[in-house]
Amino acid sequence: MPFKKVAFITGITGQDGSYLAELLLGKGYEVHGLIRRASTFNTSRIDHLYTDPHNPDAALFLHYGDLSDGARLVTLLSQIKPQEVYNLAAQSHVRVSFDEPEHTGDTTGVGSMRLLEAVRLAGLHCRFYQASSSEMFGATPPPQNEETPFYPRSPYGAAKVYSYWVTKNYREAYGMYAVNGILFNHESPRRGETFVTRKVTRAVARIKAGLQSELYMGNLDSIRDWGYAAEYVEGMWRMLQADQPDDYVLATNVGYTVKEFLEASFSHVGLDWQEYVKFDERYLRPTEVDALIGDATKARTELGWTPTVDGLELARLMVDADVQALAHEGRPWIDTVKLDSWNSKRNAALGVG
Ligand code: NDP
Ligand code: GDP
Repeated sequence: MPFKKVAFITGITGQDGSYLAELLLGKGYEVHGLIRRASTFNTSRIDHLYTDPHNPDAALFLHYGDLSDGARLVTLLSQIKPQEVYNLAAQSHVRVSFDEPEHTGDTTGVGSMRLLEAVRLAGLHCRFYQASSSEMFGATPPPQNEETPFYPRSPYGAAKVYSYWVTKNYREAYGMYAVNGILFNHESPRRGETFVTRKVTRAVARIKAGLQSELYMGNLDSIRDWGYAAEYVEGMWRMLQADQPDDYVLATNVGYTVKEFLEASFSHVGLDWQEYVKFDERYLRPTEVDALIGDATKARTELGWTPTVDGLELARLMVDADVQALAHEGRPWIDTVKLDSWNSKRNAALGVG
């Protein structure tokens, strides 16, 4: 048997986790993912990657756990013994973090420390990736790079700053290969439906199909640097292959307003956004991050990482995917043949079915 690298991914059921799992499986890794027990299935983004674990070729394994349960993390890491750990799990929605600040602090902040501590207690010499965020820059004006001071504007941003510093501290205190990827917004057809890009592109597809007639939105003037998630997970992997652990910004270096994203999305299917978009103050945040535009020069020069899809191209790509998704029950990326016996196999593998 050739040597297989083993990776452990928290947040594997999320947007980035699903792309990263795909990437690593394609590179021949054995991939272990942490999933939360839920009363409904929460694995739709990775169903197409799953094979029966009794199959000798099986390379994706799922384990129940939660970043709030440190003992479970120690047990799992001791059993799995990964060479690479990717901490992507988080309560990742900025607006929600104002409603659930304590939970966000516990998951998005302290959860990272629990995982780092679990790596240490399990005695692993693995490489650790922390999903840090451009939200840490908050009120500091663009362009933002690795030297830009943090000024978070939400409980989410503040929790990510905590995770950033504990990751750096474990690197310095214990000599751990632990890195922060400071990623600017990245999107895809798999983006959660309450983030602004996917909310818009999904609505465009539904309006075009006559299923919806209006779209309620908040602040349309903020500027974001939107990139394509599938390219960003490749940057995460590159960070863990470098000779020395270091922190890197990943961004496209181009910013657009929410309004420009709306315009590109609606006009792609021949509609005028101003006829459909209405204002609802519920979507405003108590404190807003006005402008995020990243400078990813360091990742380009040191890691050879270059994004190719810019924010408006992404709008068109996501609209096309959502138009297609309506014809495929909302799941354009899933191989339905593999789904047939997925639920029973997955439950059996987790020991609950
Ligand atoms: P998603 O919201 O799509 O995924 C979050 C993942 O975390 C899900 O798998 C979710 O599980 C899991 N999760 C949430 N809470 C817990 C918990 N307590 N214990 C274990 N797992 C948990 O996020 P993305 O994929 O978009 O982002 C990945 C990471 O990158 C996140 O940490 C995010 O904050 C960060 N980030 C994202 C950016 C972006 O633009 N996408 C930008 C910068 C950073 P479940 O499916 O059960 O809910
Ligand atoms: P964020 O950058 O992590 O907060 O990502 P989001 O996609 O949630 O929001 C991006 C920007 O879009 C923020 O400035 C929001 O205030 C703005 N925005 C405007 N209307 C909406 C909306 O209806 N939903 C969301 N999620 N954001 C909105």
